[in-house]
Amino acid sequence: MERKPVFNDWCPGCGNFGILRAEEMALRELGVDPKKIVIVSGIGCSGKIPHFIELPISGVHTLHGRSIAFATGIKTTNPSLEVVVNVGDGDGVGIGMGHFVHLGRRNLDITVIIHNNGVYGLTKGQASPTLGRGVKTKSLPRPNINDAVNPLAVALAAGYTFVARGYAYDIVHLKELIKKGIKHKGSAVIEILQPCPTYNDVNTKEWYDKRVYKLDNDPAWDPVVKREEETKTKFEKAMMKVMELGEKIPLGVFYQNELIPTFEERLEQNIPNYREFYPAIQPIELKGIGTTDIT
Ligand code: SF4
Repeated sequence: MERKPVFNDWCPGCGNFGILRAEEMALRELGVDPKKIVIVSGIGCSGKIPHFIELPISGVHTLHGRSIAFATGIKTTNPSLEVVVNVGDGDGVGIGMGHFVHLGRRNLDITVIIHNNGVYGLTKGQASPTLGRGVKTKSLPRPNINDAVNPLAVALAAGYTFVARGYAYDIVHLKELIKKGIKHKGSAVIEILQPCPTYNDVNTKEWYDKRVYKLDNDPAWDPVVKREEETKTKFEKAMMKVMELGEKIPLGVFYQNELIPTFEERLEQNIPNYREFYPAIQPIELKGIGTTDIT
């Protein structure tokens, strides 16, 4: 069953199209029952993803910066659901930074997809927290005076156990990263470099095409922690690699560790009868009928 298509108002050439296709393909290929999938988004151009996706999933289009808080409630109430959060760079690591950090520290089994284009596209291209200092896009009156936050460095420090970066115009590679993130047991984050041709005329497709390279092409790169004693070395290597954002920008998985218990496991171990204490925490059956807009 497909959903009725919704008119898509993204600008021509926007990187969001590649992200939408990759996410849709990943979910189809994983074969997850669409009724078990919830896509949560915040405010921004990225926030329209749950409306545009052509799978009969359930979606929630939430408040600016609060999508991870909503997703935390959904997953905690019903751990059997596959919960994916789509955030923009301003939405997710600006106003939503507090929620972003705490999801990693809890290691809840949720996948966060960050659409990173360096600007607030929905409100005419103001500098977002990921735009570099000194960068002047056509939407700014003068160069940006602030340093950029690196979402993946923050994610590693916060405790995310799957950390990866993809590129919106390499859909097949991105699809594989999203599949890995969703399959991962624990908090996963995938930052996606996403050109915004309408407002960011600096970090364009041509700009990225010259710089991005794939970690998968290096046979020595192995980001998966298989034994506890490897954790420190692999964490440090990942931290160095995510900071490489100059003439060369790596894409791929930087870090993956499934040895750390998830929030769901910690909850079951420490308060096994928590649903009796909190009767309101009861799963409901989803029908995958569409996206609820609560903005
Ligand atoms: Fe895409 Fe930018 Fe247009 Fe938003 S403003 S739809 S991010 S191109």
